[in-house]
Amino acid sequence: MTLTAEGPQGSYDALRERIAVACRALAVSGLVEHILGHISARTGSGSLLVRGRGPEERGLAFTVVEDVQQVGLDGTGEVPTGWKPPSELPIHTEVLRSRPEVTAVVHAHPPAVVAASVADLPWLPLVGSYDIPAARLAHDGVPVWPRSALIRRRDLARQMVAALGDRPAVVLRAHGLVAVGTGDPAHAVAEAVTRALAVDTLARTALAVAATGAPLRPIPDEDIAELPDLGPAFNVSAMWRHLEARVRHEGPATPLRA
Ligand SMILES: [Zn+2]
Repeated sequence: MTLTAEGPQGSYDALRERIAVACRALAVSGLVEHILGHISARTGSGSLLVRGRGPEERGLAFTVVEDVQQVGLDGTGEVPTGWKPPSELPIHTEVLRSRPEVTAVVHAHPPAVVAASVADLPWLPLVGSYDIPAARLAHDGVPVWPRSALIRRRDLARQMVAALGDRPAVVLRAHGLVAVGTGDPAHAVAEAVTRALAVDTLARTALAVAATGAPLRPIPDEDIAELPDLGPAFNVSAMWRHLEARVRHEGPATPLRA
């Protein structure tokens, strides 16, 4: 199914709002500081909704629904005057091209992830029950793309996608991260955000431990084996309700629609 602005689906507008709230959630969670970062969701085989920039750009914390517009995988589309897709749009389009099951992409520059990657700290399950999704993510492997180039071209994006492989997230050294979600696009946006949060948790923990001078030691496999996947109702849906509430209570009072 292709979601369109003209179609009868309320889901198209709901998805735009979901992406806008997700951008604000990245900001209130400390994963984006100012105006850099973007989220997309697949709307059809050749199109996506993406958070871009209008002439009144104020940064992710103040994202409005109108910042989220639909473009084709080639970056073109009928968009409002003055609105532009992100310069790193190829991050989104190349992930969507190469991973058919992926329906949402988050790109952010979390300060802790950037610092941990510059320090070349390993992405290990240093903690267990403290944050099970983060521990499981680290145990299964967090790939690192070693380049810090601005990903404005498809060839660079394809290198990044190769590093991502079939994993839920990739760290871009000295740059940030890319996280993906699958399934229903609204769920996928929330899932991609929770995966970005998990990578950020790993980074903040590694930096805190490294700062004490203690070695970075993964928890034992026998403890990993006792960390169940608590499932999407807990890991994604409950986390999303938490994030929505934080956006409402801690975010700016700026209305979601201009
Ligand atoms: Zn970037």
